[in-house]
Amino acid sequence: MRARRTHIVGAGIAGLSAALAATAEGGEAILYEAAPQAGGRCRTLYPAGGFTHDNGTHVLFTANRRAIGFLETVGARQLWIEPEPDGLPIHDAGTEQTSRIGLSPWSWLFPSRRPRGLGLGDLGRLLRLALCSSDRPVAELIGDRPIMKSLIEPLTIAVLNTPAMEASSQRLGFALRRLVRPGAGKLLVARHGLDEDLVRPALDTLQARGAQLLTGQRLRCVLTGHDRAIGLALTDRTVALGPDDRVVLALPPWEIARLMPNLPVPDRFEPILNIHYRICGLDRPRFLGFVGTLAQWVLIRDNHVSVTVSAAGELVDRNSNEIASAIWREIAPVLGSLGLDAAASRQPETRVVKERRATIRQAACPLPQPPLLPLANVALAGDWIGSLPATIESAVIAGQEAIMALQHAYRTRLPAAAPHPQRVEHAA
Ligand SMILES: Cc1cc2nc3c(=O)[nH]c(=O)nc-3n(C[C@H](O)[C@H](O)[C@H](O)COP(=O)(O)OP(=O)(O)OC[C@H]3O[C@@H](n4cnc5c(N)ncnc54)[C@H](O)[C@@H]3O)c2cc1C
Repeated sequence: MRARRTHIVGAGIAGLSAALAATAEGGEAILYEAAPQAGGRCRTLYPAGGFTHDNGTHVLFTANRRAIGFLETVGARQLWIEPEPDGLPIHDAGTEQTSRIGLSPWSWLFPSRRPRGLGLGDLGRLLRLALCSSDRPVAELIGDRPIMKSLIEPLTIAVLNTPAMEASSQRLGFALRRLVRPGAGKLLVARHGLDEDLVRPALDTLQARGAQLLTGQRLRCVLTGHDRAIGLALTDRTVALGPDDRVVLALPPWEIARLMPNLPVPDRFEPILNIHYRICGLDRPRFLGFVGTLAQWVLIRDNHVSVTVSAAGELVDRNSNEIASAIWREIAPVLGSLGLDAAASRQPETRVVKERRATIRQAACPLPQPPLLPLANVALAGDWIGSLPATIESAVIAGQEAIMALQHAYRTRLPAAAPHPQRVEHAA
């Protein structure tokens, strides 16, 4: 019997996850990617001059079980390491003090790991946030409390890439519930970079399973007939689809809007700004948070330092050189205190990466969601599908669920436009 073939358009994490799921039991998969390389928003840049760095720092939590499962499947789990096992250092520019906080609420039993200003009443507020049934802006739910600045605002921006004044309490609550599980609050970063520690291992695994990746192939349109996709018009070819062939469109919402204009999709996005300084760093990566500065998170690698500014709407249109200089002056003294040869007056070679549509804006209002199967043999995937924070974890889940939905539709011959299934939060 011929193995069923899955055509996956988009080789970001959702597309790679769909390809792994499709090939797990011997199925065939072909990936079509518009860019010259796989990875999408998780990619390493190799500019001329040899200063290699990721587009932006990506962190995972041990709570991200499906993302961790993805790493295990491709043999890359050990490449993701915990840079701050003793608690996350947070530097407050106002007090010029650095203190450590635990990311797991259990660690707050120790005063030395407690977020600054955390009082007994705040535990009730955090519980309400974690369990809240109605969606409200995070800032409105927490109120004007010291933990807003020391914990909630940085966490909201890091997880949802949306300012706390607008961000969805339900999406953040989902992340908080997961962090409560024992061992779930460890923060991980790629040891070397996203290409080496995430994308390449996935491609190697897929290649070993016989999957193909065709880069430089942009999907121009989906050819349809009788509620099914019958062909894919790509950059330089048209692929005819057989009766058993199925398609996953693992694409961002604006591409789905172009290809299938009648589908409801999110249309508001938030930028992330990444500034990379080429400087001799530390052998083992370090990761620090900053409050009261433009810089929010700083990752120190052996040959460069990367700064992340999420929800960067106010900065993204400003002159890149000016932003990079201002941020360098903020972080240089702290880098110096960690033993790096960094002086505010000597800014090293710098690259600024502006991701204008880094994620959807995850505000406290229902976001437009298309059906998971807009056509009988086509499923959608991407970090923006569903109601989880738009991250690597949701991209992995979306890829897996797209394949499950297609398998189910094939078995039951579901009509097109089946409703999006309720996502369940699985117990550990
Ligand atoms: C700077 C930055 C920092 C981030 N930090 C974190 C973090 O710390 N932790 C975390 O979990 N997440 C983080 N994220 C989010 C994470 O990167 C995304 O959630 C995830 O990569 C989304 O994967 P995806 O496959 O859904 O989409 P994408 O990565 O966007 O993949 C879509 C793919 O489709 C391709 N494509 C588009 N149109 C076409 C077409 N017509 N035909 C063929 N191919 C097409 C694109 O080139 C792309 O490769 C960050 C994102 C950014 C930008």
